[in-house]
Amino acid sequence: MDYYGALETGGTKMVCAIGDDQGHIVQQMTIPTTTPAETMPAMIAFFREYRIRTLGIGSFGPVDLNPASPTYGFITDTPKLAWQNFPLVPEFQNTLSVPVGLDTDVNAAALGEAAWGCTRDVSNSIYITVGTGIGVGILVEGKPYHGMIHPEGGHILLHRHPDDPMEDSCCPFHRHCLEGLASGPALEKRWGRKGEELSQIPRVWELEAYYLGQAVATYMMLLSPERIVMGGGVMRQPGLLAMVREASLRQVNGYLRSPRLADPDSYLVGASLQGRQGILGALRLAQEAFKTSP
Ligand code: ADP
Ligand code: ZN
Repeated sequence: MDYYGALETGGTKMVCAIGDDQGHIVQQMTIPTTTPAETMPAMIAFFREYRIRTLGIGSFGPVDLNPASPTYGFITDTPKLAWQNFPLVPEFQNTLSVPVGLDTDVNAAALGEAAWGCTRDVSNSIYITVGTGIGVGILVEGKPYHGMIHPEGGHILLHRHPDDPMEDSCCPFHRHCLEGLASGPALEKRWGRKGEELSQIPRVWELEAYYLGQAVATYMMLLSPERIVMGGGVMRQPGLLAMVREASLRQVNGYLRSPRLADPDSYLVGASLQGRQGILGALRLAQEAFKTSP
């Protein structure tokens, strides 16, 4: 059997998996993200147990995705200081001696859904995660979009709601970006409690849907995705997805015409892979790396 390695790196944990051509995960290990000195050897040992053909990584960012750059595959400015400027891809290439495919965690999630989940039938889709941070993975004609660095869809600027009780935002860079106004930490800052403890208070979610709906409307107009997927911890709030659907269409205000929008429930959908879209996307990156390696 031919196996691939898949890795989803996160600020708190690393998910390592071994998968096959069909997208079956045959082995998985999750370890806390501490320091490279501690975490890297454990991951390398895990992947060494299997003769993996290639490794795919969906990484927290910012990460250097430009193959022509001298710091390709480095984690760049993370607040996790021990990982700042860490040569993630070179370390794996050197120790495992296999080709490594790399993308952002959100592009990987978008790829996972496209390979084995709810966007299999379209080639232009986006994956929005709303959790500790907000990120957007973008697939254009089936390929993750990078551009100059990689998109930072969580930091698009929004109109503040006039009745928002929070005066500033929780993004240190922007006073009114999406992440600063609508991430899990923004909910906690605004209301003094975590999202999961606010589920019974309607105005919390009306405001949340207002911001997420504004962002989704912007993504619809700018990127013209054929389907939009939303995941992440905050989207676990019952009813929020439907509220965002309604808010986004209200803000588009009938301007976009497509048969896809005639059925909004199949246009804006929840993540479909039970939290495995990121690791499955990393598996897809490994498969792609195999196809393109000499
Ligand atoms: P991360 O973004 O760190 O990978 P998650 O996607 O699980 O992790 O998001 C964590 C955030 O989601 C936290 O801010 C948490 O308070 C929030 N969260 C978790 N469950 C819910 C819920 N049921 N309703 C609203 N917010 C939630
Ligand atoms: Zn911001």
